[in-house]
Amino acid sequence: MPVPRCSGPCGGARPAALRRPRTGRAVCRSCFCGAFEAEVLGTLRTGHLLPPGAVVAVGASGGKDSTVLAHVLRALNSHHSLALDLRLVAVDEGIGGYRDAALAAVRRQAARWQLPLHVVAYAQLFGGWTMDEVARRAAREPGRARACCTFCGVLRRRALEEGARAVGATHIVTGHNADDMAETVLMNFLRGDAGRLARGGTLGSPGEGGALPRCRPLQFASQKEIVLYAHFQELDYFSEECVYAPEAFRGYVRDLLKALEATRPSVVLDLVHSAERLALTPAARPPPPGACTRCGALASRSLCQACALLDGLNRGRPRLAIGKGRKGLGEEGEGENCTSRDRGRPTLTGAIQAF
Ligand code: SF4
Repeated sequence: MPVPRCSGPCGGARPAALRRPRTGRAVCRSCFCGAFEAEVLGTLRTGHLLPPGAVVAVGASGGKDSTVLAHVLRALNSHHSLALDLRLVAVDEGIGGYRDAALAAVRRQAARWQLPLHVVAYAQLFGGWTMDEVARRAAREPGRARACCTFCGVLRRRALEEGARAVGATHIVTGHNADDMAETVLMNFLRGDAGRLARGGTLGSPGEGGALPRCRPLQFASQKEIVLYAHFQELDYFSEECVYAPEAFRGYVRDLLKALEATRPSVVLDLVHSAERLALTPAARPPPPGACTRCGALASRSLCQACALLDGLNRGRPRLAIGKGRKGLGEEGEGENCTSRDRGRPTLTGAIQAF
């Protein structure tokens, strides 16, 4: 079959490189990258997410999502004069055999883009606890799966907030994409977690309880297109899966979503948009959150999840902090702010028709 000419803004000057799943249009590399960046700009502008002059902490994991996010924000900053002050913030969870290599990728990116980088470590922030130590302690509780991402998700959110404050950020951005968002929506349905469903469809959080505002500029970008963008821009990123990721409930949800996508290709964006339109009856809404009596963060009880988890760890009972009654507020559960679960480098084409 002859390769079609690009139907994008170049007017067919170049051969097409792929057919975009969302629009069905055959486009060349350059027009694809331009359209991808324009869509992220549209997300930022529609949601009024990052005002001019914002000091933006980019949650950098070294993976494809945060790498593409930082690259696109830099490009938009120079082409559209967004006047954003970008800084990279990386979290070192203390995961042996995994995070060191990912952090090396973040350091290369910071050097290439000449962006300031700040690394926050669990061990420093949380009284010597690393994720490996937490996993060992959780494994001692008999008859229970370790569910490391549940613990790590709580601590990561706190660590990113602390790191962003340390660099003087006014806003936090994370690299969550449409696939991540669809998985989260499905997970919340499967758990019957009305509280998270109630806030899961927005583009981020405005900064309740004194927290910094957070947003997800890639929320409507598919994972496949993010991989293609990274490939066309020759971005250097880390693509190993976190050693604890196979234990996560999210992995089962991801497999279910892939099966659904095979028969309904639009299912990912359908789920993202369904969460935007979801309306809960007043009785199903969680009560307004209070403030943690220890650190002042948003909390559904007297202690927020992070402080309660650290208390539980120090008393040898980490699971006391992750009880069912704690879900539903601004606190995070299973790795919601982590995109470190890629199983190897994702294929470049997948369901995308590449020429
Ligand atoms: Fe933490 Fe992410 Fe690894 Fe889970 S996958 S343990 S949330 S770094």
